[in-house]
Amino acid sequence: MTDKDFQPLDSGVVPRFAGMPTFMRLPVATPEEVDIALVGVPFDGGTTNRPGTRHGPREVRNQSSIVRRVHHATGVSPFDLVRVGDCGDAPINPLNLNETLESVAGFYAGVRRAGAAPLTVGGDHLITLPILRGLVADGLVTDGPVGLIHFDAHSDTYDSFFGNRYNHGTPFRRAVEEGLLDPRRMVQIGLRGAISDAANYDFAKAAGIRMIFIEEFVERGAKDVMEEARAIVGSQPTYLTFDIDVLDPCFAPGTGTPEIGGLTTREAQAMIRMARGLNLIGVDLVEVSPPFDPSGGTAITAATLMFELLCILAESVAARRTPG
Ligand code: MN
Ligand code: MN
Repeated sequence: MTDKDFQPLDSGVVPRFAGMPTFMRLPVATPEEVDIALVGVPFDGGTTNRPGTRHGPREVRNQSSIVRRVHHATGVSPFDLVRVGDCGDAPINPLNLNETLESVAGFYAGVRRAGAAPLTVGGDHLITLPILRGLVADGLVTDGPVGLIHFDAHSDTYDSFFGNRYNHGTPFRRAVEEGLLDPRRMVQIGLRGAISDAANYDFAKAAGIRMIFIEEFVERGAKDVMEEARAIVGSQPTYLTFDIDVLDPCFAPGTGTPEIGGLTTREAQAMIRMARGLNLIGVDLVEVSPPFDPSGGTAITAATLMFELLCILAESVAARRTPG
């Protein structure tokens, strides 16, 4: 235990533009000190086209100074439910992908052993693979594979690019192959955009992953889609991953693989809130690329969605602590 006060700095005492830019102006902490560890993974070595997400965690930290304490719609105050702190960045090597996969997995295994649930900001989407390895592979959270709610314009279940099987287009195929995710408890929401090969969705289809393309989302609406998503993952341990490119590029241009015709920020907020009460073991928000975000708007959007994600993760963590 610790005598730290795990509350955001009081904006009536220290103005939001002052002080050190930790996530949400929370104290720097070790995973042992907190229930929810806010972590950055500043790595874009899995990017196949437009890079820059290595700068995501720092910029989201900066813009997250705008985050306040109480959710306006749900009334949830995550900082009153659980201890939350900024646990810094996972160790990465920008020149060595394989070493980074190992060091990030090792970091997240440490987070789990400390009893904390991670809320991560990337980084490109490859980082979700070592996060899942760290959380799931050591059997601390669950004996078997976990479920996944996956917001993304892309399925990220391709086999390889440039002869390399580890990049931001492949993490969920690898995670299924490695037994980290149960494909029958996986749902991908917001898929769209032309693909380079008609066979690109074959793996996901054959594995039984539920793919909800944007056309189906528009037809059915957020509530209906999320009711199905909740039924797919059920009450068993589940991870949630949010690729910022699921949003329309008019809301989030600062990303490497923008696809027009995407979700509004309001739809995304509503769907995250509809994931309340699930058994979440961790969440992440990836693919924010500040060099493509001259207005800073994508990073502000990411910081705000991070608060939405924190609220539902805090409720999950609190519910596990007091069963029933
Ligand atoms: Mn992705
Ligand atoms: Mn994507």
